[in-house]
Amino acid sequence: MQPHHLYIHVPFCRLVCAYCDFVTVGGHARDIPRYVDALLAELAVRPAPGDLRTVYFGGGTPSLLTAAQVERVLGGALDRWTGAAVEEITLEANPSERETPDWVGLRAAGVTRLSLGVQSLNDTDLKTLARGHTAREARDAYAAARRAGFENVSIDLIYGIPGQSLDDWRMGLLAALELGPEHISCYALQLALAPDEWAAPPRRGALRWRTRVVERQDEALASDQYRLAEEVIGAAGYGHYELSSWALPGRASRHNSAYWARRPYTGIGAGAHSYDGAAERSWNLRDLDAYLRAAETGERPVADLETLDEPTRAFEAIALGLRRIEGLSQRGFAAEFGEDPIERFPDQVADGRARLLLEVAGDQLRLTPHGRLYASDASLPFLPPADAARQVELPA
Ligand code: SF4
Repeated sequence: MQPHHLYIHVPFCRLVCAYCDFVTVGGHARDIPRYVDALLAELAVRPAPGDLRTVYFGGGTPSLLTAAQVERVLGGALDRWTGAAVEEITLEANPSERETPDWVGLRAAGVTRLSLGVQSLNDTDLKTLARGHTAREARDAYAAARRAGFENVSIDLIYGIPGQSLDDWRMGLLAALELGPEHISCYALQLALAPDEWAAPPRRGALRWRTRVVERQDEALASDQYRLAEEVIGAAGYGHYELSSWALPGRASRHNSAYWARRPYTGIGAGAHSYDGAAERSWNLRDLDAYLRAAETGERPVADLETLDEPTRAFEAIALGLRRIEGLSQRGFAAEFGEDPIERFPDQVADGRARLLLEVAGDQLRLTPHGRLYASDASLPFLPPADAARQVELPA
């Protein structure tokens, strides 16, 4: 049976950051019990295809759920996928004292992997980012999770923060490595403000950061910071396996790796996306009330779906394949699309090679180290003209 993956979206946040473009709601803590019931109702009306391998609680702030609520949702999923042999259950958590989760309870509920939104171990950076925690709180949360028995912890870090020098970033990387996480993700900050507005931001947290197309406020410095991350994290024994992700041996995120390999997944919760692994992608209602009402009446809370045509699937195979450091298997691509990517896209590949963005190594078409700084520039030429006209975003 084909491996399958489950994403569970938890949109609640203590405060909604002005810059956030995830599906989030603030100040709705009273709705969490109702939302948990809705997740279970949605699970009950969803098909349970394939062999469930990973579960991922993302947000929002999933650590606002109690351990008992997490356990209920997981129980619902495991009931649905009878006989599931789940290998990895991840939960995203904020390392803030004001929302300290019950780490022991979460571990007992079955969560096997934590993704901690540390972002920085420098209080100046954390203030700049308007994060609701300090570096000490992040360290305390990490230590508490370890004491509770979590043996697989990932931490997120951000570079390209205004005022963060190359040396600051080096110190931050070394401080993070000293903690000894199994996995590190480094994301570039995307500013929503022009640099001259930055001195007096009009509202708290007017920043955006994301994993994909990034407009950096200081392109050269951010590039140097990315290269430094490759050097420092690599020297500490972590494998760089995806543009933003490093892991100790055997600790790559199985759930996210499934996305990059275009495996099928089911997404439940407000705004969650699902993909059948072939041509159909659907997404849920984003509005919390609309989602709750639909789930409570026993409907599938799907907002819409799209059928991906063959050129779009080929583009996604290339864009997601290039996110992986090992690159795209030409044989794998040929098996799915009838010809290898170099035959199908001779001009795009030649241009990418001439610009030193792409290289071929054995069976793999992959980004060069230089190309890793310009991943979207390397991928976008493969976009079908119809999608380019619609300005389709690169898959995350
Ligand atoms: S950035 Fe994080 S904490 Fe802020 S609203 Fe978005 S998900 Fe919530």
